[in-house]
Formats: sequence, C-alpha cells, structure tokens
Amino acid sequence: MTRTRRYEVAVVGAGMLGASTARHLADAGCDVALVGVAESGMRANRTVHASHYDVARVSRTIDPDPVRAWLGHQSVSQFAAVEARTGVRVVNPVGHLWVESPEGVSVLASADQRFNLGCVRRSADETKAAFPFLSLDSGSTSRAGNLAVLDSLWEPPPAGSVDPRAHVRAETAAAVDAGATHLVALVDGVVESSDGVTVASDQGTITADRVLLATGAFSEHGISPAAGLDLEYALHTQLLVHLDAVEADRLAGLPSVIAKFADPMEDFYLTPPVADFRSVAGAEARYILKIGGPQNDHVRATVDELVAWFCTDGDTFYADNLARSLAWLLPDLRDVGRWTSSCVTTYTPSGHPFVDQLTDRTYCAIGGNGYAAKCAPALGGLAAGLMLEWSWPTEVDRELFLACFTG
Ligand SMILES: Cc1cc2nc3c(=O)[nH]c(=O)nc-3n(C[C@H](O)[C@H](O)[C@H](O)COP(=O)(O)OP(=O)(O)OC[C@H]3O[C@@H](n4cnc5c(N)ncnc54)[C@H](O)[C@@H]3O)c2cc1C
Repeated sequence: MTRTRRYEVAVVGAGMLGASTARHLADAGCDVALVGVAESGMRANRTVHASHYDVARVSRTIDPDPVRAWLGHQSVSQFAAVEARTGVRVVNPVGHLWVESPEGVSVLASADQRFNLGCVRRSADETKAAFPFLSLDSGSTSRAGNLAVLDSLWEPPPAGSVDPRAHVRAETAAAVDAGATHLVALVDGVVESSDGVTVASDQGTITADRVLLATGAFSEHGISPAAGLDLEYALHTQLLVHLDAVEADRLAGLPSVIAKFADPMEDFYLTPPVADFRSVAGAEARYILKIGGPQNDHVRATVDELVAWFCTDGDTFYADNLARSLAWLLPDLRDVGRWTSSCVTTYTPSGHPFVDQLTDRTYCAIGGNGYAAKCAPALGGLAAGLMLEWSWPTEVDRELFLACFTG
C-alpha cells in the first residue's frame, strides 16, 4: 500500500464513525484515505475487532438525552440519502417501541414534541392490543410486570433498526464515489511530525497532512496518539434467534424495542427479524431476531483483554437473563435455533464520543457510548466539520465532546 501520493486526511478505522466521517470529508472535496481492516470470517485470527460486525442496531430519535435525540434526528435523513446514493439498504423502518414507567415515557415524549415525530403513547394494555404478538404480562419472570406501571411510546418509521455492516458498506461506497480512497489495512503506527502524519500498516505506509482516528474499542492498538484516552468498556452478551420465514412473517410489524424496568438488570433491547444472507450464500436467507441487555459495569481493559472477550460467546449469566426477557416479551416465539455472541461498547466520562483535536495534526472520533450506530452519520458530520472548521452546531454542547486522557 505504500503510496507516494500524500492525502489531505487519513481516516483510520473504517467502522461506523470512520466511514461516515470519510463520506462527509470526501463530499466536501477533501482528498481522504479511509483505512481499516476487513471483517474476516475467523474471529480468533483478528488482531482488532469491531462493534459493527452484527445484524442490527436499534435506531430511533426518541431518547432521554436531548443531544442524542438531536443527533439521531439529524442522522435519519442522512441514512436515507446514503441509501439513495449507493443502493445499499441500511435502515429497516419498522418503527421503535420504548416500554418504561409513565415517568420515563414522559421524558421521551419531549423528543417527540421537539421533532414532531408523530409518536403514539399507549398503556400496556393498549400496547398489547396494537402489537398482538407482544405480551407485557407479569408472571413469567421477576419483571416489573405490573401492567399498571408500564407505558409505551411508539416512534413511527423510519425508526426501527440499522444494519451496521450495511451502514459501513454504504458510507464507504459513497465516500469512494465522492473521490475518497479506501485502503484495507491494519494500522500499527500513527506518527505525527511537523511535516505531516505517517500511517504505517501491515500493507505499507501512507502519509497525510492530518489524521482522524476512529478506531472504536481498539484505540490502544499499536502506536497511536489515542493511547491513554479516558475510555471504559462494557462487555456485552447478546442472544441471537434464528427464525424461519413463516415465523418472521408472523412477527411482521414488530418494531425494535427498548424496555426499562425498576431493576436495570431486567432492561433489554430487541431488534426485529432481519434477513441474513451472509452465512448461507446461495441459499435462502435466515431471519435473525436479536435481544441484548444489561452488561457488566464499565471496565478498563487492554487490547488483549478486549480481543479475548470478542473471542467468547458472551456470558451465560447474561444469556440466561436475556432468554427470560425474550420469553416474557414474545412467549409464543417459535425459533429454529439460538446462539449467543459477544460485543463491546466504548464509554467516555461525559457519555458522548470524543470528537476532538488531540494534537496539531491528529483528530479523533472515538467512544460511541452505545449510541453511535443510530447517530453515526451526524457524529461523522461533527468530526468532519471540526477538521474543516465548520461551525459547531448550537444544539450540541461542545464541552461534552472534548477528549480527555487518563491520569
Ligand atoms: C451489542 C451492542 C449493541 C449495540 N446497540 C446499539 C444500538 O442499538 N444503537 C446504537 O446506536 N448503537 C448501538 N451500539 C453501539 C454501536 O455499535 C457503536 O457505538 C458503534 O459501532 C461505534 O462505532 P465506532 O466507529 O466508534 O467503532 P466500530 O464500529 O467498532 O469501528 C471501529 C473500526 O475501526 C477498526 N480499527 C480499529 N483499530 C484499527 C487499526 N489499528 N487498524 C485498522 N482498523 C482499525 C475496527 O476494526 C472497526 O472497523 C451497540 C453496540 C454493541 C456492542
């Protein structure tokens, strides 16, 4: 990959944030190289993993946090625009259902009012009537189950879910179409000098005027100016359920779901069945429904520890908990098979990504805080805007996105 051509910007990490940032930069006429690893089949062989190797992420505008709600809302039209540009379907617009105490739902309703989303608020009984395959009954678990204390807020399409792999594919294609160069490589060293930035990888070296690091949970890999950022990690377990076409059809209209209870250990999110063509090349798609939920407290972890976690199938304690949640929500579910998987989310002290300039020539967009899938296009816009000296949007408190290092 060693190139004599020097780029204006090298974006390191072709994930959800890196790909979106590269597209914004390329659209603005910047000569950008997007550098990242490809998803290899064998997870044990991966040096760095990613939080986007998955079938679905919940996407919605309603959010208890107004900044997240604004970023989510900004992302909706961008997902659609990139889909239209590339023909890659990213969004599964099935609507989103948030189930929580009436007080919690009232907080969310403010996003509905702000953005005129046309959400529908319902009691638990009204929710069951609207979505007959859902059971919000008490009894099967220790869940808050008391119907009187659960309300729901349904956000209409295009809320629903986002295919994270498709998002990366679409944003990368749009960036390349706008003039970006996509390089498949594992970056081992990012070194800045007064002259520029050298990005060394297993495929050779490139140079650029500036670099943006969007390396997700693997920001400590190799030599990187992002080393030492104040990041913590949540180690997730998720339960994936294989459905046949008949069962997927029965659940047509099932929105993505987030449910919050008095005991946070009982919280969960669910993404409705999506066709997965990857594992069955040439055959019919299988449909995969996914449920995830509470995870361990946020921890510090080394790259080796994160790699080791990604090589597991998650934690059986959380997997059993998720199976109970699923039985509570969809008691009549008929599945063909189930398995669990592991994933990682990256957290910052402010609860928002570090979108910042670290040194003269180095910028970062790191720390998705569990919401960077639904907001990736808007967050990519913030990162690109910072590099291009666009004015920072007044709806987003700049302080929340400033990077800090440990110690
Ligand atoms: C189980 C789970 C459920 C989630 N659910 C939701 C949800 O419902 N809604 C939502 O909005 N968000 C959700 N998220 C969070 C969302 O997926 C992440 O916030 C998002 O993927 C972060 O994007 P990123 O670009 O920072 O990191 P990533 O998507 O991980 O991308 C980083 C990229 O950088 C690459 N990379 C790292 N180091 C190097 C290197 N040295 N050289 C080359 N490439 C490198 C990685 O391989 C990867 O491709 C969830 C996450 C998990 C794990």
